[in-house]
Amino acid sequence: MFPVSPKICKWPPSEVLPERSNIIKKEGLKDASKFLPLLEQAEKLFVDFSAPTGLVGEISADQFERVFEGLGQNEPQAPLREIYPKAQALALFGITLGPTISSQIESLFESDDFVLGYLLDCMASLACERAVDHASHQFADAYEGLSTMAYSPGYCGWHISAQKTLFQMIEPQTIGISLNEDFLMSPLKSTTGVLVAGPREIHGVKPGYPFCRQCKCRTCLDRLTTVQ
Ligand code: SF4
Repeated sequence: MFPVSPKICKWPPSEVLPERSNIIKKEGLKDASKFLPLLEQAEKLFVDFSAPTGLVGEISADQFERVFEGLGQNEPQAPLREIYPKAQALALFGITLGPTISSQIESLFESDDFVLGYLLDCMASLACERAVDHASHQFADAYEGLSTMAYSPGYCGWHISAQKTLFQMIEPQTIGISLNEDFLMSPLKSTTGVLVAGPREIHGVKPGYPFCRQCKCRTCLDRLTTVQ
């Protein structure tokens, strides 16, 4: 149960709609102009069928320790274990684009409309990231001078099973997100984690952990350049 009621935030779909250039870059689309009509179609579907909603609640470091440790399956040297005790403020979050956009993506694949389905899927994933950025900026507004960054279970040594304690604490069910026994969320286009506000340097993570050998994204290399 959360110590203070978390705040619900809603954003118009157009506010989290990713830039076309980001989709083109992420998907490595060579002849981008060829995809323009489909990108426009996907944008229309996104605006019509997504309902970006977030739940954000501040938490103390002691309370977060329980969430972080989860079911005790984290890597021994997970970077977040070193970062969060140096934070000056922490907030749990759950964010979803709602069930309808996921059904739309599914039905495009079912009707063999693969390219449009694929573009809409990519658009929705990037939109989730943008919604996290919005939540992060809103949280950072209250902590001027600090740098805020989001961390999620399932990445960088923080085991996905920590979703269980995170869900017990913030209850993302309130905004329609559920968790199955494999710790996967429904609707699919949902994300959870912790916002960490502190001095900029605490977020500096280098890919030197044993589990980094399996990592394909290496986002730690450029994340610090994007932190506010
Ligand atoms: S290389 Fe990958 S797993 Fe390792 S710290 Fe960077 S983002 Fe995390």
